[in-house]
Amino acid sequence: MKLKVLLASAILAASSATAVAQTVGIAMPTQSSSRWISDGNSMVEQFEAAGFETILQYAEDDIPNQLAQIENMITNGVDVLVIAAIDGTTLSNALENAHFAGIRTIAYDRLIRDSEYVDYYATFDNFQVGVQQATSLVNGLQERFGDGPYNVELFGGSPDDNNAYFFYNGAMSVLQPMVDAGSVNIVSGQMGMDTVGTLRWDGAVAQARMDNLLSAHYTDAVVHGVLSPYDGLSIGIISSLKGVGYGSGDLEMPIVTGQDAEIRSIRSMLDGEQYSTVFKDTRELARVTVGMVEALLGGGEPEINDTETYDNGIKVVPSFLLEPVSVDLTNWEEIILGSGYYTVDQLQ
Ligand code: BGC
Repeated sequence: MKLKVLLASAILAASSATAVAQTVGIAMPTQSSSRWISDGNSMVEQFEAAGFETILQYAEDDIPNQLAQIENMITNGVDVLVIAAIDGTTLSNALENAHFAGIRTIAYDRLIRDSEYVDYYATFDNFQVGVQQATSLVNGLQERFGDGPYNVELFGGSPDDNNAYFFYNGAMSVLQPMVDAGSVNIVSGQMGMDTVGTLRWDGAVAQARMDNLLSAHYTDAVVHGVLSPYDGLSIGIISSLKGVGYGSGDLEMPIVTGQDAEIRSIRSMLDGEQYSTVFKDTRELARVTVGMVEALLGGGEPEINDTETYDNGIKVVPSFLLEPVSVDLTNWEEIILGSGYYTVDQLQ
């Protein structure tokens, strides 16, 4: 009898546990960039610590693949979707399906456009990222090349990623006045996201474009700086520069910026190649996202700090913006090691 009671209560406990464990579907763009791996890992860890179940999937930058993954999560009955879109304009149907299945959606780091069913947006201050990149570029130019004028080339992110425009516009808010004043020369004349964007944030595409810029415009001129919006592009750009002799002999390495504090780029900085990056603590972004999900599913109001900036074409999505931090050789130990983001061993 006693055993029966125990068994019955165990079954009851198990079934009520199944009933309350809510599932978060996490759709990430690619594992080819270490930042998204950190995002995914931090979210799984923090969601599970908060009592959720998780389904984490990466789509390797393939749009149909990401759509299929999201549709599967909807079919499997997740309670909420957290999506970092590959192409932020391709998810309208999927989000509509999610909505009619009673599933809430959070846009993670990248805004999802053209849908009324994006409930919240967790990200960094993306305009400020661009401001920090350009400010670091200008500081580096002064430090390495004196007063100028400076020869500079511009790279943008993927035109299907809303963030790319914020990074570019933030950077140009610093650089355009210098271009107008003649202290920065864009020697190729190539400006504007239509011209300088890099589809899918592909480092090989950036490397090929830098090769072309160098052979078409720099046979008689020297390049002093390159605005790069993402570490993966910076690595390709630096390979191209090294390929024609920059960074050796009399040809100084140009100032190259970046974003994400990826391990390869921190190593490159320590080797005196990449000049700077922008650190965005993915653990913090995960924390904000978990908080949003807890509030949403618990019937509360997620904490937000921006209700104006992120218009997705249908509505202004309520957002929480974290602060990015510009990192170079002067502060990387304090910011990157000090926060425990990487250990010294990881950087060997
Ligand atoms: C992210 C950046 C990242 C880029 C390439 C953007 O949406 O905000 O942190 O560098 O995608 O992955």
